[in-house]
Amino acid sequence: MFKELPAFIDPKRLAFQGTHLKGVVALTQMSLLGDMLCDIQGEAQIDWLFALDDKHRPTINGRVHAQITLLCQRCLKPMLYPVDVQVALLVLTEEQDYDDEPVGYEAITLNGTQVSLVKLIEDELILAIPIMAKHTICPSNDYQLDENISENNNIINNHFQVLSTLKKGH
Ligand SMILES: [Zn+2]
Repeated sequence: MFKELPAFIDPKRLAFQGTHLKGVVALTQMSLLGDMLCDIQGEAQIDWLFALDDKHRPTINGRVHAQITLLCQRCLKPMLYPVDVQVALLVLTEEQDYDDEPVGYEAITLNGTQVSLVKLIEDELILAIPIMAKHTICPSNDYQLDENISENNNIINNHFQVLSTLKKGH
């Protein structure tokens, strides 16, 4: 089972120790993300490895996994959206510059030693939200689709009737 994660972490210390952080955070703790969701129930799972890069800077590598509930922009009904994103962060202090970050890494700047783990996870989840969330097939549209098909069939049938009437007339 996943254990509850600490609210704040010291990335430098965790990197020095080569810590493997694995656990869950409740989505209710993420107020900014919460505003974008239909339902704030659920949790995010992380599996992160803290290590030092060749310049002895802390890095975080791993995944964030969650099931979030978004509003479908087509039918305006809630939809479950699975998030499974790769995280590659380079932790810099305020004096360090971004210039030489390793390829594929996103730099975050730390003021102080502690950083909110919840905030880090929340940022990753917000980035993973699509601009236009849509069901592959909207549940409410199944019915409408059937209606459209039968309507179209009626139009086609009428069209044939008109054609056959015209033909008979000649
Ligand atoms: Zn929909």
